[in-house]
Amino acid sequence: MRKVLHIDCDCFFAAVEMRENPQLCHVPIAIGGHSDRRGVISTCNYPARKFGIHSAMATAQALKKCPQLILLPGNMSLYREVSNQVMSIIRRYGIAYEQVSVDEAYLELDPDDSAIDIGNKIRAEVEAEVGITVSVGAAPNKFLAKVASDWNKPNGLFAVKPHKVGAFVAQLEVRKIPGIGPKTAERLSDRGITLCSDAQSYSLLELVNLFGRMGVSLYKRCRGQDDRPLSTGRVRKSISVEHTFADDIFLAEQLNDEVEVLWQKFLQRTEKANIDSRSLAPFVKVKFNDFSQTTLADHLQVTSLEAFRQLLQQARLRQDADETQGVRLIGIGGRCSEIDEQQLVLF
Ligand SMILES: [Mg+2]
Repeated sequence: MRKVLHIDCDCFFAAVEMRENPQLCHVPIAIGGHSDRRGVISTCNYPARKFGIHSAMATAQALKKCPQLILLPGNMSLYREVSNQVMSIIRRYGIAYEQVSVDEAYLELDPDDSAIDIGNKIRAEVEAEVGITVSVGAAPNKFLAKVASDWNKPNGLFAVKPHKVGAFVAQLEVRKIPGIGPKTAERLSDRGITLCSDAQSYSLLELVNLFGRMGVSLYKRCRGQDDRPLSTGRVRKSISVEHTFADDIFLAEQLNDEVEVLWQKFLQRTEKANIDSRSLAPFVKVKFNDFSQTTLADHLQVTSLEAFRQLLQQARLRQDADETQGVRLIGIGGRCSEIDEQQLVLF
């Protein structure tokens, strides 16, 4: 069973402007083009939404609804910088990552990790380190994760657990399915299809006859199915080694020794697979004696003994700030980005 997170910044451009100038927090603001140049609103904050303003609305219309609206031209280079900060936090976790836009990304997790824990960690870290909020959806696939990130917006998390997929999707409106625009939604509603449960009574052939290629994805989505992998745009495979200790480890020095043993094993594996360990980005896994576990990755570094030691220490402190909990297992690994898939031996 897969675990996928969809992380979406809350009214991103407006949130960055409010961070820069907190006086803007409680007044309606919008980022968008000027009204006399047929501009449209790209983002607005929640006070502005109370006036019925939303993205893609003509600026002239927005100003009619809310004359006191503060219109900002936008600062793309600042937004990009903040986006990079947010994405680097997201990339600390997971086994694959796909950035969808400046303020949105998917993260595929190790199925052994808790999606809710990691989702909440990402939310807390973005808020503390970047000063804006994100909403997170957790689900067994990209489609449901994307829908879920909208469920408790802003600054929330919603998880669609595997055994709840059927019930969740049955009451979901078909217009919430990404890719179903207002026009298709109208054609669906003409046939009495407003909820996914309505669409479920149509066969695949019927939906294809009615809606063409869209019918195929509608057939799957209305059942909560989506087998699309994260498109990282690159081959992303990993090599890893791990060890479960006979007795729990408490001391940092002892852990450092164990990392060295694993590092030697890791080098043997990469050599056997004919891969340069310096082309791999490091990740680590720590399991504690209460069976909780955490993973941590650093996509900007390359694997080395020192990099693994640092990452393991960070991972441990993250879960267990005073280092009192025993460690049951550690794993180290490297993820490659641009290596021929054929070259890899997987474990
Ligand atoms: Mg967003």
